[in-house]
Amino acid sequence: MRVLGIESTAHTLGIGVVEGDGKVLSSARQTYIPEEGGILPSESADFLASKFEEVLQESLDVSGCSFNDIDGIAFSQGPGLGPCLRVGAAAARYLALKHKKPLIGVNHCIAHIEIAKVTTGAKDPVILYVSGGNSQVIAYAEGRYRVFGETLDIAVGNCLDAFSRVLGLQHPGGPKIEKLAAKGKNYIELPYVVKGMDLSFSGLYSDLKRKKLSGQYSDEDLCYSFQETAFAMLTEATERAMAHLDKEEVLATGGVAANSRLQNMLEIMAKERGAKYYGCPREHCGDNGAMIAWAGLLMLKSNDTLDIKNSKINPKFRTDDVDVTWL
Ligand code: AMP
Ligand code: MG
Repeated sequence: MRVLGIESTAHTLGIGVVEGDGKVLSSARQTYIPEEGGILPSESADFLASKFEEVLQESLDVSGCSFNDIDGIAFSQGPGLGPCLRVGAAAARYLALKHKKPLIGVNHCIAHIEIAKVTTGAKDPVILYVSGGNSQVIAYAEGRYRVFGETLDIAVGNCLDAFSRVLGLQHPGGPKIEKLAAKGKNYIELPYVVKGMDLSFSGLYSDLKRKKLSGQYSDEDLCYSFQETAFAMLTEATERAMAHLDKEEVLATGGVAANSRLQNMLEIMAKERGAKYYGCPREHCGDNGAMIAWAGLLMLKSNDTLDIKNSKINPKFRTDDVDVTWL
């Protein structure tokens, strides 16, 4: 069985083909980078639409497949930015109708989880899902991926991207902050906000901005302290979930999970508890089409498909809204 997956929740148009037990045959993508400021949904949507033909062709070429070899068309149904989601959804409906294939509506967050599980071999982990739009501590229980903790305001990736703009760096900020942080030496005290398993990053952002504008601190020390604080918060909430749920695996996924320092903290935490840490491979961490294809394939196997008339996007689609039919 092979599924073609289309990702278009925000900044990335990704189209991937996955087969059988999770073999990624292709994962083509193009990412919108705003010239200044953050992502403008309508501008990003225009960019994604303009790249559709090229990314689709690359994905088919690399996979060696034509539509005859594809058993279903999956797309990101949400959560995400409405105009961007509509680009992928419209294209997926068209391809499903044209080639007479089942249509599969995938929850983007669950796709991040499933690609991380299949590529690492994690079985029943506590999942730390950290990206530009989401920060959640998740575990599977009785038919759903349940959210045990999450940000009460902005996502950690959003916080990284917003602060990087204060530093005058271009989107996406995470990788640039990671490089600067590696040169930082002095820890500067910052707001550390963990409430049970929930988190808050907006005060951290405001304080970082204030400290940067004061001119008293180096960018390197600010980035270093930012990472130490935010990632310790994430690690603490994740550890609390592991203790509470008595789980022996932890899995990190989403764009921010590409960060070495975050991986390192989670690994230390897991080791100290006698648990095992799994990190999603870097190439599958950020938004991509292969993850949508893989989640779509799992859903297709359990006949979890959509009629065209019920295929509306859902910008506020939550991880715990989905009945997991495939586990
Ligand atoms: P996603 O929405 O899953 O594609 O993830 C995008 C987010 O991941 C953006 O906020 C990026 O700044 C962030 N990101 C990407 N690479 C890194 C990194 N090495 N360290 C921290 N954040 C990162
Ligand atoms: Mg994402």
